[in-house]
Amino acid sequence: MGAVRVPHKPLLLLWLFGRLATTGSSIASYAAAEEPVNGLINQFGPPVRRATTRQRAAMPFVHLERELWDLRDAAGDPLGHEVPERRRFLLDLGATGRLHEDVERLLADPATFAAATRLLLARHFTSALAPIICDTVGLDVATSVEDSRLAVVSRRRRSAAFTERVLRVYAYSCAACGFDGRVGPVPVGVEAAHVRWHSQHGPDDVANGLALCSLHHTLLDLGVLGLTPDRRLKVSELYIAQAPAGRAIYDLAGRPLALPRPGEPSVDVEHITWHDRQVFRSYAA
Ligand SMILES: [Zn+2]
Repeated sequence: MGAVRVPHKPLLLLWLFGRLATTGSSIASYAAAEEPVNGLINQFGPPVRRATTRQRAAMPFVHLERELWDLRDAAGDPLGHEVPERRRFLLDLGATGRLHEDVERLLADPATFAAATRLLLARHFTSALAPIICDTVGLDVATSVEDSRLAVVSRRRRSAAFTERVLRVYAYSCAACGFDGRVGPVPVGVEAAHVRWHSQHGPDDVANGLALCSLHHTLLDLGVLGLTPDRRLKVSELYIAQAPAGRAIYDLAGRPLALPRPGEPSVDVEHITWHDRQVFRSYAA
């Protein structure tokens, strides 16, 4: 249960939130939404075959809950869930959606807006991805964090034991590159990553954790870095870099992960398989 990621509607909503925040209205034609929402789903959604990457915005545009979303054709007639989720059809219809007026009014309250944003991010993504997604859709993540300080604090407390244990088991060093920076006694830039995302029912177990530097944590969550069943790193063929620092990522391919302390479990293959299917960017035809 919950093995397949379905972040399509949350990504459409976050894009609409960004539009609402910048323009004051969430109104959007399918023609306007298609490119940016496809981009969001292709970047932050589960991997798919290349042939379908132009179609992905159509599903959430048609199926977003009607309690939230008012979808109409060019003549102003309401469109239901029976509309085919095909781009050509939606473009020809002149399909245009808008969050209901009362939803927009609720979201006009900054605390509600921040809480809704944070909930979507927390339930469908990871802490490493949240600021990147906010940046992409034009939302100010600092405001969200400030307004929901209490929730952030309690979330931290819950995962503090996981973080501490994973970092200790990997000696406060990145399991991919060995980065082990400290300021005095305090480790910096090394984080505990969930292989199967916490938001996607990934357990707070050492067998689902890796200590990674901030860069490699982000790249793992973005699906640029992946893991093989024999616990080596792999690099997405979609990753491109010119400068030597960027190209250093290529050198990680085939490299074995650092081992945990003796007696502690390595990453479970079940979690590696989840990451491989739901996150890693491979367009294998
Ligand atoms: Zn690293």
